[in-house]
Amino acid sequence: MAASNPTVWLKPGREKSLRRRHPWVFSGAIERVDGRAQPGATVDIVGSSGDFFARGAYSPSSQIRARVWTFEASEAIDVAFFRRRLARAVESRRRLGLLDAHGACRLVFSESDGLPGLVVDRYGEYLVCQFLSAGAESWRSTIVELLGELCAPRGIYERSEGGARHKEGLPSRRELLAGEPPPGELEIVAGGARLVVDIANGQKTGAYLDQQLNRERVAAHARGADVLDAFSYTGGFAIACLRAAARRATLIDSSADALALAERETAANEVHDRCRFVVANVFDELRKVREAGTRFDLVVLDPPKFVHSADQVAAGSRGYKDINMLGLALVRPGGVLATFSCSGHVDAALFQKIVAGAAVDAGRTAQILERLSQPPDHPVATEFPEGDYLKGLILRVH
Ligand code: SAH
Repeated sequence: MAASNPTVWLKPGREKSLRRRHPWVFSGAIERVDGRAQPGATVDIVGSSGDFFARGAYSPSSQIRARVWTFEASEAIDVAFFRRRLARAVESRRRLGLLDAHGACRLVFSESDGLPGLVVDRYGEYLVCQFLSAGAESWRSTIVELLGELCAPRGIYERSEGGARHKEGLPSRRELLAGEPPPGELEIVAGGARLVVDIANGQKTGAYLDQQLNRERVAAHARGADVLDAFSYTGGFAIACLRAAARRATLIDSSADALALAERETAANEVHDRCRFVVANVFDELRKVREAGTRFDLVVLDPPKFVHSADQVAAGSRGYKDINMLGLALVRPGGVLATFSCSGHVDAALFQKIVAGAAVDAGRTAQILERLSQPPDHPVATEFPEGDYLKGLILRVH
C-alpha cells in the first residue's frame, strides 16, 4: 500500500518537471530516500515539504533515478494498475485498426503509453517484449501474464538488450517467455507488402515498425526510379518502392545477416530480380559510388541512431551532415532524397538545418516536399517530448 512505500524526497525547487507531469526524476533532484528501495521498487516521490507528487519505480543504477507510474496519490501500483495501462494501450491500437491477424504494430511504447521502460511489439500471433527499466523488469512476470490475458498470443518472446538495459544495471536477456517459440522466419503483411521477421535473431525486436507508413510515403515518388536504399536492413524501403513500380533498387547495409533476410523478403514480395545487395559501410560505399559517377532517381538514407546523449549532438550532427552530403551528390537532377534521423536529441528543426547545410556544401538545391515523423502506434505523450524521436524529409534535389 502507498503508506509503506519508500519515499523519495526532492530537493527544494526541483518539483517543476513533475508539476508538468514529466515522468523522470534525475538523481541530482533527489535530497534523500527514506526506507529500503530495491531496484524497481515502487516509491512515493514527495516535494521538500512532504507533499505527494508521484509514485514511480526506483532505479539506483541510473541517472534517471525514478520513473513515474502515476501522478494520482490514490492509485496503487499493482496488477490492476498494469491491467488498466496495458488494456488502454492495446485498445488504442485496436481503434487505429492495427490488430489484424497477420499485421504488425507497436502495442506498447514505454513512457508514451504510461509504462516507462516497457516496449511490446506485435508480429501477427507473436508478441516481443523489451523490459528496459528496473521498474518494468520487476513487474515482468505480471506483464507477461496480463499480455497473455489481453492478447491471447501464440507466443511471447523477450528481446531485452542494448544500452538502455545497461544504464539500468540490467544484463541483456533473450528468451521465450510464454507459449510457443516463434518460427525463424515469420511472414507479416504490412501495407500490402510482406515482411520477413526473425524475432529471435533480427535487430531490435525483429523489424523497424516505425518506418511502415513512411515507406509508403517514399514509394509515392518511386515510379520508374532507380532506387538506392542505404542502411536498408531487410529492404523495407526498396520493397515498397519496387511494388510502386520502381525500375530497380540497390540495398546497402553493413550487416550480412540483414541482407540475407532482405534476400528472402524481396523474394517473398516477388521483386528479388530487380535488387542488388551490397554488404558495406554506407559511408565508404557512397564515396565509391560518387567517384564512379553512378547516380539514382531516388536515394533513401535511414541510418541508425547517431546521437545517444546530449553531449553527442555536435559529433552526431557532423555524421548526419556527411551522410546527407554523400546522398545528395548521388541524386540525379530532379530526383528525390528521402532522409531520416531517429536520434531524439536531434529535433526536426536541427535536422532540417543539417540537411540544408549539406545541400549547400554539396552544391545542390533542394526543396522539402514532405516532412515525415513516427506513426500512431509510436505516439508521443504531450508531457514527454523525448518520445518524439523519428523525423524525415522528402526532398526534390536539383
Ligand atoms: N531502413 C530500414 C531500417 C534501418 S536501421 C528499414 O526500413 O527497415 C539501420 C541499419 O543500418 C541497420 O540495418 C544496420 O545494420 C545498418 N548500419 C548501421 N551502420 C551502418 C553503416 N555504417 N553502414 C551500413 N549500414 C549500417
